[in-house]
Amino acid sequence: MLKIYNSLSNKIEEFKPIHENKVNMYVCGPTVYDDIHIGNGRPVVFFDVVKRYLQYLDYGVKYASNITDVDDKIIDRAQKLHITEKELATTYTNNFFEIAKKIGGYNFDVTPHATNYIEEMIKFIGELIADGFAYKTQSGVYFRVDKIKDYGILSNQQVKDLKTGVRIDLETDKEKDYDFALWKNTLDGIKYHAPWGDGRPGWHTECVVMTNEIFGGKIDIHGGGFDLKFPHHENEIAQSVAKHDHHLAKYWMHVGRLDLANEKMSKSLGNDIKLKDLVETYNPNAYRLMLLAHHYRAPIQFSDDLIEQYQKAYDKISYTLNKWHFHMILNNIDENGLDHESIKSFEEFMNDDFATPRVITLIDKLIKDLNKDFKAENYNTIILILNTLGLKPKIFEVLEEDIENYNNWQQARLEKNYEKADIYRKPLLDKGFI
Ligand SMILES: [Zn+2]
Repeated sequence: MLKIYNSLSNKIEEFKPIHENKVNMYVCGPTVYDDIHIGNGRPVVFFDVVKRYLQYLDYGVKYASNITDVDDKIIDRAQKLHITEKELATTYTNNFFEIAKKIGGYNFDVTPHATNYIEEMIKFIGELIADGFAYKTQSGVYFRVDKIKDYGILSNQQVKDLKTGVRIDLETDKEKDYDFALWKNTLDGIKYHAPWGDGRPGWHTECVVMTNEIFGGKIDIHGGGFDLKFPHHENEIAQSVAKHDHHLAKYWMHVGRLDLANEKMSKSLGNDIKLKDLVETYNPNAYRLMLLAHHYRAPIQFSDDLIEQYQKAYDKISYTLNKWHFHMILNNIDENGLDHESIKSFEEFMNDDFATPRVITLIDKLIKDLNKDFKAENYNTIILILNTLGLKPKIFEVLEEDIENYNNWQQARLEKNYEKADIYRKPLLDKGFI
């Protein structure tokens, strides 16, 4: 039985989806004003693994990851670059999809763009106003936080503590400092027409509306980075409670931060590391392996040494698998059995709130065992586990010429013609077959 840590209850809970065998999952995606950082890739990788493992457990999964393509940051940057918000957002949306594919995390079923749901957001805000949960001012529309009894449930805060804790927004016409914007009236940048003034929706409204439009009700998993817990997710919950009388999702999952170990951290990549630059230098699988070697809720202190360590670990896995794959082809070994003991351990670790570090240790052990004593079932088990984690080492196809090179190499060795042997050996070494 899968158990996951629910940020809403702060407890490990048995995972029971709302509909049997079907899991609906929404993860907050990027605001597309720039390329994503190495830290932003962490939820992309982790929720990809969640989906893969749920599918491994035979659940059908519908996974939505949104694109926030209307936002102050987008407006600011577009103005600086003298292009439209749409042009800027399109560029960085495409860049996001490209990097998500590169790291094997483009596993979304739906990728809603906020700008495609403006009408629905206006309707939603209008209904909240009509029900007294929201109010209009000169500067926009705000949510009346005091109307929600359990506001603060996700971030474990009480409204009375927010009064001093929350940064006072520029808008001074709010009833309470901690009320948040559902709509911002704007003169500047891209704006949409609404009954209460031209402007654009607030970020917290975008996600709650899109979740409801896509899934038509309460979902199973709502995920995102740890930083989104407050105010973003708290405010999504508040609006959902106001409009739909539920907490939007049954399970809330938050992924820990990835920070640079120190400011002058990366000699080669600088302080501000974009994921696309990282995977130019390191294999995307090494990045994934590094993330999964840490528990998803734990923070990661990134450094050159850390990623290099996992690049080496990944190379070892890749090399070992290619070597034994070649061995299997060469010797016509065609067994598809599995090491059931290891599969049991794998499931036990994953069922324990996705304890991927323990799975990585298990893979390490299986790789060592394989190098000591080849067993096809160990090889098959490693491949199955790696696939479920989305780690896909490149297994080179064994060609006719590789077999010939191997046979010629062995023959030359028998003849003690070492110069000739080396010529046949080189291409096999290059492919990691021997
Ligand atoms: Zn969101």
